[in-house]
Amino acid sequence: MINYKDLGLVNTREMFKKAVDGGYAIPAFNFNNMEQLQAIIMAAAETKSPVILQVSKGARQYANQTLLRYMAEGAVEYAKELGWENPQVVLHLDHGDSFETCKSCIDMGFSSVMIDGSHLPYEENVALTKKVVEYAHQFDVTVEGELGVLAGVEDEVSAAESHYTKPEEVVDFVTKTGCDSLAISIGTSHGAFKFTPEQCTLDPETGRLLPPPLAFDVLAAIEEQLPGFPIVLHGSSSVPQDEVDTINKYGGALKAAVGIPEEQLRKASKSAVCKINIDSDSRLAMTAAVREVFAQKPAEFDPRKYLGPARDNMKKLYIHKIKEVLGSDNKA
Ligand SMILES: [Zn+2]
Repeated sequence: MINYKDLGLVNTREMFKKAVDGGYAIPAFNFNNMEQLQAIIMAAAETKSPVILQVSKGARQYANQTLLRYMAEGAVEYAKELGWENPQVVLHLDHGDSFETCKSCIDMGFSSVMIDGSHLPYEENVALTKKVVEYAHQFDVTVEGELGVLAGVEDEVSAAESHYTKPEEVVDFVTKTGCDSLAISIGTSHGAFKFTPEQCTLDPETGRLLPPPLAFDVLAAIEEQLPGFPIVLHGSSSVPQDEVDTINKYGGALKAAVGIPEEQLRKASKSAVCKINIDSDSRLAMTAAVREVFAQKPAEFDPRKYLGPARDNMKKLYIHKIKEVLGSDNKA
């Protein structure tokens, strides 16, 4: 049993309270590899932004859970070297799928876990989330639960709407489970292809696809039920068009990739939404930079020569998100 406090990590409790009160959101960035982690920490240290390092199931399979935990421990020390005296870094399990997975992460030094029972019948979601909370709270680890289902790109619009979080359930869920934050579904979606072209409207000025707006009425109804309670948005990449264009220019084939417009996330950040998950945008920034190097310098074979520019591009993206979208700079 390793306690995260011995690793210099923090849980989300104070961080979320300040974010809700201050009208900003904490970035939750996924990481799978060293360059991504370096870019996240450099961006957070440079902007003095609290940050959540997220580890998904895919990341655990790809990079190994133990290795990722040691990388996060190293990241805290690295942040200090970069001149961030008191780094506010959370190590969070993204989409924990069972009690056992959550327990193993808690025992290994994670400071926060998500238990995603959103696909289960309501009472089963409550029971599972409650079980994780009871275990986690013994070690002062914070827990994110989820109500409502995020749409995927194949889903029909009508199906997406019917999966929105039901505001009438949130008080009961939070009270029964004791969870510390709640991920909700108001129209965000995982991946770089969040909406089909049929779900979008065409912007006559730019010729780009505009996604359907987030359901701010549902968010408002949830906030009314749970005043000041920390709310989380998953699937909140914006799919920057310049990165998509760079990828396509240098041989990629990302057609009709659509994300959540940044002005909508800016608006959400000012509400009780205090954690915004961003993964795909970092992947796009990395891929765009790598493709550009490969296209322009075909003789290059030193990974540092293409992963270095990828790291720079991700760092630029993270700083942009922190300062221009979430407003979490100078809060740590
Ligand atoms: Zn998610």
